[in-house]
Amino acid sequence: MSRGPMSVITIDTRATWDAQDVTDLVAAAIPDDAGNTLLLSTPHTTVALVVAPADEPMLRDFIRLAKRWPADLGPFEHWLEDNPNAEAHIQSAAFGTRLLVSQEEGSLVLGTYQRIVLLEFDGPRTRTIDVRGVT
Ligand code: ZN
Repeated sequence: MSRGPMSVITIDTRATWDAQDVTDLVAAAIPDDAGNTLLLSTPHTTVALVVAPADEPMLRDFIRLAKRWPADLGPFEHWLEDNPNAEAHIQSAAFGTRLLVSQEEGSLVLGTYQRIVLLEFDGPRTRTIDVRGVT
């Protein structure tokens, strides 16, 4: 197994909860000699990467969901270690921190309404996404 070429995107999130369409940033960061499959991964435990429509009402709906779920299932034991962000870890794990996306000649292969969205659950912070060709 070998590692493909990789590039890194940096995103500044704007609030505790945030949802940003990163599709164009990802497309611009496709490594020159990547194959047709890209692995997008973020090294954080309180964000997620999803494929979803990215109109502003939909992004607000993700934020609204994140504020309410799973907060109402607490208290969480992670809080006892002075970490108030158990919900954010659960959200990150549930939505996922990695995506496989196809690309052809530098363009992402996505459906008409599919966008790549970064969900922030414990911001505002500076976040990174690795864009790696899978070989
Ligand atoms: Zn924590």
